[in-house]
Amino acid sequence: MLALVMLAFTANAQTGSGRVALVGGRVIDGTGNAPMEDATVLISGGTIQAIGAKNAIRIPAGVHKIDVTDRTLMPLLVDDHAHLGQTINGLDPSPDAYTEENIRAQLEHLLAYGVGTIAVMGTDRDLIYELRSEQEAGKLPGAHFYTAGRGFGVKGGAPGGAGAAWDVNRPDTAEEARAEVREVAAHHPSFVKIWVDDSYGRAPKMKPEIYRAIVDEAHRHQLRALAHVYYLDDAKSLLAAGIDGLMHSIRDQPVDPEVIAALKAHNVLYVPTLVRDESTFIYADGPPWLDDPFFRAGVLPAVLDKLQSAAFRQHAASDPDVGKNSDSLRMAEVNLKTLFDAGVRVGFGTDAGMPGRFLGYFEHRELQLMVQSGLTPMQAIVCATRTAAGFLARDIGTLQPGQRANIMVLDANPLDDIRNTEKISAIWRGGNPVKPISPE
Ligand SMILES: [Zn+2]
Repeated sequence: MLALVMLAFTANAQTGSGRVALVGGRVIDGTGNAPMEDATVLISGGTIQAIGAKNAIRIPAGVHKIDVTDRTLMPLLVDDHAHLGQTINGLDPSPDAYTEENIRAQLEHLLAYGVGTIAVMGTDRDLIYELRSEQEAGKLPGAHFYTAGRGFGVKGGAPGGAGAAWDVNRPDTAEEARAEVREVAAHHPSFVKIWVDDSYGRAPKMKPEIYRAIVDEAHRHQLRALAHVYYLDDAKSLLAAGIDGLMHSIRDQPVDPEVIAALKAHNVLYVPTLVRDESTFIYADGPPWLDDPFFRAGVLPAVLDKLQSAAFRQHAASDPDVGKNSDSLRMAEVNLKTLFDAGVRVGFGTDAGMPGRFLGYFEHRELQLMVQSGLTPMQAIVCATRTAAGFLARDIGTLQPGQRANIMVLDANPLDDIRNTEKISAIWRGGNPVKPISPE
């Protein structure tokens, strides 16, 4: 308790009794509205009190003024699909990674990269509920998380592979599935996560009667059900079962009017996770972003050495799925553009936190891949702020009066080049300053 009081005192000391005015910047508010130039953002008690043209906002006496002329302000990013405690160094899976110490470090790392909120998709253990209590008490630093608790997969199937130790439910029958949903629901997670995939036909896929039971039982407990998905036909079947979110792209073939209508009819969240697909083949060539100082700043030297080594590239290239995975990303990009233009509710996610999917950097890379798919920088930013946040909470994701003061200050305008989200000069979380990652 004493530590908490001290922390609050320190924060207040830095922010002038918690009342701050960021003066003279360009504001991208996350709603999709045109940016406001030469604006003032007035922060008090952790929330945005007022926002408007510099000459229209009166700054009360005693407020700490910070000049942000020539800088761009936008909401902290929101990742609807991430994982915690799967790896310690970001690259190698580790069954020992699911610890309070490591999860705390990962949440702080995310926030330093401008990611304010994440949803953890089905790989959490019971420790997460203790951490959630600490978070609610204001004792957890870093990004805010929501959790699906323990997810639902298939014996001998997904989730699996070379990931960390998987600790998920794998029911054999609909009755077993319902009982396990009730067990998960007793912890009051934010949603339930299921995996529906067959690893290119090599593994058993969850039977429709199992996922129908999980979705139905989740809904009986007022929980939304979210699915890992790959195939168009599975997406349609999941949508017919009442799924609330598709947490990866449809990647086997182009989407069609039937699936678009089903997604829109129930306002289902569609989370592309393009960077997840990129990560499944790009290490064979050595991704160009290995040289990006913003990436390098968040990775241990030994990990960088390994990623750049010939042995690592050869290992990645020896994966028989490299070609299919690359095709999957291309299909995902085409489908994203089609679905976005059709008015589907497109959120934002990365699958970061899994080995080789780097928390913090991958959120920025995902924005770049969304723009590469044909979205404008503004459209991609709205997906990653207002839309992604709208799925999780009401008071985050936009810069508007009454919203949490979760703000990223950039040295360059991301509407000119989406890569400018990497040029972070300051981060505010609930009105308190947080040190951003600092590339050399
Ligand atoms: Zn995932």
